[in-house]
Amino acid sequence: MTIYLDHAATTTIRPVALEALHDAYERFDRNASGQHTESRNAKNALEEAREQAAALLGTSRPHGIIFTGSGTEADNLAVIGAALASDSEAVAVSAIEHKAVVKAAFSLRRFGYTVDTIPVSPAGVADLDHVARGEIPRLGVVSVMLANNEIGTIQPVTEIARVARTAHPGVVIHTDAVQAFNSNETTLEATGADLVSLSSHKFGGPKGVGLIAVAPDVRIEPIIHGGEQEAGRRAGTYNVAGIVAMVAAMEAAAADRTGFSLRTGAERDAFEAAIVAGFPGATVTARHADRLPHISHIRFPGVLAEDLLIRLDQAGIAAAAGSACQSGAVEPSHVLNALGFSDEAARECIRFSFGWDTEQGEGWRAARAVLGEL
Ligand code: PLP
Repeated sequence: MTIYLDHAATTTIRPVALEALHDAYERFDRNASGQHTESRNAKNALEEAREQAAALLGTSRPHGIIFTGSGTEADNLAVIGAALASDSEAVAVSAIEHKAVVKAAFSLRRFGYTVDTIPVSPAGVADLDHVARGEIPRLGVVSVMLANNEIGTIQPVTEIARVARTAHPGVVIHTDAVQAFNSNETTLEATGADLVSLSSHKFGGPKGVGLIAVAPDVRIEPIIHGGEQEAGRRAGTYNVAGIVAMVAAMEAAAADRTGFSLRTGAERDAFEAAIVAGFPGATVTARHADRLPHISHIRFPGVLAEDLLIRLDQAGIAAAAGSACQSGAVEPSHVLNALGFSDEAARECIRFSFGWDTEQGEGWRAARAVLGEL
């Protein structure tokens, strides 16, 4: 039997979300932009989901939520859309953002933008002073994630928003809260951001759905052109069932935050304690930093992560390396490089991530299995 420890890549769909998905397909499988009664019923279900999502994210205005086709699209639309809608020439992103933010930011260079990279400390936390110095002329957007997807460190987004607004009045603050939603409050108020992006399948909703919470008066230029959906900010026929199911998962996840943190935190801690005691030299990245309860990032000196992952897979443990295999070459993670890891050290790291359905005792059992493969 597999112990699934790759919940940060995608987690199990929650039963309420699966039920909502099925139910919405049965009842609202029509184009929500149409003129007839069946379309209006679909539109009503969509707008009800929008109101629920808005309430969970602290934005009650009708245009406070933009539904997207993924977390990646939400990040792209937030960074590119806010930059293009503003009178600016630069964006700033932390060195440990997900590629969806990094590449979106760098794509703006072809429109004449400069991209400033905010460095992080060896403990994986974005440098507040760098933002406060305010050296970047005509800065339009600052994007710093609420928590990192590889090492789990929580970022001081509220403080970054405050110093960035002082140094650059009118700057738009975006936070990718994709990994944080299970355990952290991600309202506009709690994060201090103007734009918050989320991805459904990271908190137990279906894949291929995401959203952005938008603060009042923040303008977004569309990056997908076509119909007038989402108040002209994101064209494309509404994925009513996906959205309704995502919001069902959001409600369940938000209600379970304390339980989630206690359960995954306990399993994660038991796992880490057993690994560190059982494999001399194993180190937990940013162990003492403020980090998410469900992510454990561990370096096993002298062990190539790719090889260990194959052995773990055969032993029934599903985990992930932070490196991406592109055109045959394994690229060390930019996140670990930003923390000061050498390429060699980065190739010795594995991410184990726990989820809402992780069972009691799985952390310890997984650690025994991992130690058996080292
Ligand atoms: N942002 C972060 C922090 C993520 O972990 C992910 C998923 O890996 C994404 C964005 C992208 O989300 P999606 O898989 O919905 O495109």
